Amino acid sequence: MSSNQSIGQSDAGLGEPATEEAAFRARARIWLEANAVGRGEPGDFSASHLFSAKDLSEYWLREREAFDRVVAWQRKLYESGWAGISWPKEHGGQGLPEWAEEAFGEEHGRFGVSTKLLSVGLQLVASAIRAHGTPAQKARYLPPIIQAEEVWCQLFSEPDAGSDLTAVRTRAARGDGGWIVDGQKVWTSGAGASDLGMLLARTQEGSEGRVGLACLIVDMKASGVEVRPLREMSGAYHFNEVFLSGVHVADDCMVGNDGDGWSVARTMLSSERASIGGGTSARAALELIATARDRGVHHDAIVRQVLAAAFVRERVLDLHMQRMQEDDTVKGGGSVLKLMYSEHARLTSSAGMAILGMGSIAGESERSRAWGERFLFSPGLRIGGGTDEMQRNLIAERGLGLPRDSQFAGRSM
Ligand SMILES: Cc1cc2nc3c(=O)[nH]c(=O)nc-3n(C[C@H](O)[C@H](O)[C@H](O)COP(=O)(O)OP(=O)(O)OC[C@H]3O[C@@H](n4cnc5c(N)ncnc54)[C@H](O)[C@@H]3O)c2cc1C
Repeated sequence: MSSNQSIGQSDAGLGEPATEEAAFRARARIWLEANAVGRGEPGDFSASHLFSAKDLSEYWLREREAFDRVVAWQRKLYESGWAGISWPKEHGGQGLPEWAEEAFGEEHGRFGVSTKLLSVGLQLVASAIRAHGTPAQKARYLPPIIQAEEVWCQLFSEPDAGSDLTAVRTRAARGDGGWIVDGQKVWTSGAGASDLGMLLARTQEGSEGRVGLACLIVDMKASGVEVRPLREMSGAYHFNEVFLSGVHVADDCMVGNDGDGWSVARTMLSSERASIGGGTSARAALELIATARDRGVHHDAIVRQVLAAAFVRERVLDLHMQRMQEDDTVKGGGSVLKLMYSEHARLTSSAGMAILGMGSIAGESERSRAWGERFLFSPGLRIGGGTDEMQRNLIAERGLGLPRDSQFAGRSM
């Protein structure tokens, strides 16, 4: 892979932040206009984490195509200097401030492109390895993430451990030169297309709760790993069951210390909330406006209120993200963001369906299919990355300082 350019850097050096940001955004927009497809145009892959397929073989095919498209896009971003904007240079990033990452994300979100399928690696795993990994792990795993050479999944949830992740039972026992893993994970997004998985497992027999856990890097193609796709109500496939039977994991694949897996998991979970909340695939206000125009109802007073509300919600999301970025002490901020995002997805996709009317279920167009998929996926956004109820608990405890439920450790605590 060729080394990436530094297109994001201003030749003029550091100036007034607002001026510098405006110039950075202008450069980003010019590049995106030249290289990215527009929202709603043929080839738009901004919602490509959804795969409706009539059977498993079609699913594998569509999933492969979707991953190939997103991998190619991430590589293009990398080669053009627009990937890892705030990552340190030694890990292949641009070393720019957080605001630049945020600004590029906003501009990127206006186009029909997405790197969401890679977000477990790009955001969750990268944050965990940066915070808890050894220098050797940083050098080994971070560059292939940013160059989209390795795709990751998150092996956390189990049939009896979702909101309360400290109940995980998957076991990692000492084996020859490492660990032998046995157990079952569920709801693993993109497991079949992933090269590596970050696994939360219990290493200390007889331990309970947050103690005795570890985070291990699992090779998804290793012997003993079996991925079984789960079909959703939409007919689409998104996530999987993963069975682990006698899977060998080498010693140097443990991130953080043995017994300290909960703190690594917490880093991933807080990054997950921000990643989902900052996602762009459900940010469909512009698409909603285009749909209303298409249907010739954009002058209707009620429709205009709905369009304005969607637009305002996205603006509030952006401003909230900006506030969190300027002040990293905003308590429960990631939960507020995730909660607002899931509500926005629900309201906007319902509005899209209502504007399309009968066309939303009977129509064959790309647009009606995309709204149908958004609508059917939106309940999942209230659950994935910690349910709405769990986010409210977190806001109550962390943001408002209300008493904590001492009986419950919780997925996101
Ligand atoms: C689209 C999507 C993608 C996902 N991807 C992944 C992935 O890649 N990897 C992975 O590991 N997991 C993934 N998940 C799983 C997800 O994290 C869990 O589904 C989620 O944490 C909830 O756990 P659960 O399904 O076991 O529900 P439960 O924890 O059993 O919750 C059931 C209900 O009880 C409520 N509840 C539970 N505890 C409390 C409490 N203390 N206070 C108030 N209400 C409570 C919940 O809000 C919910 O309504 C994904 C889920 C979705 C929907």
